[in-house]
Amino acid sequence: MKYLLVLVVVLAVLWFVRNNRSGGGASGAPGKPKPLAPPQDMVRCPVCAVHLPRSDALAGVDGRLYCCADHRARSAD
Ligand SMILES: [Zn+2]
Repeated sequence: MKYLLVLVVVLAVLWFVRNNRSGGGASGAPGKPKPLAPPQDMVRCPVCAVHLPRSDALAGVDGRLYCCADHRARSAD
């Protein structure tokens, strides 16, 4: 009976080690970081001086880039 308990413990340890090494299972791969997005070109709003990605910026009539339509209109005055 004592050996049965030892066998169960050994099997549990082996199962635990194998699950941790393979990294598979429903929990996914822990410790593997998500791939980062490629770096974006940052531009500065000339009105409020906030920095934002170029893809989010609004181009004014003068070719400058603004953070929002309000600042674009304010600069046109
Ligand atoms: Zn702004």
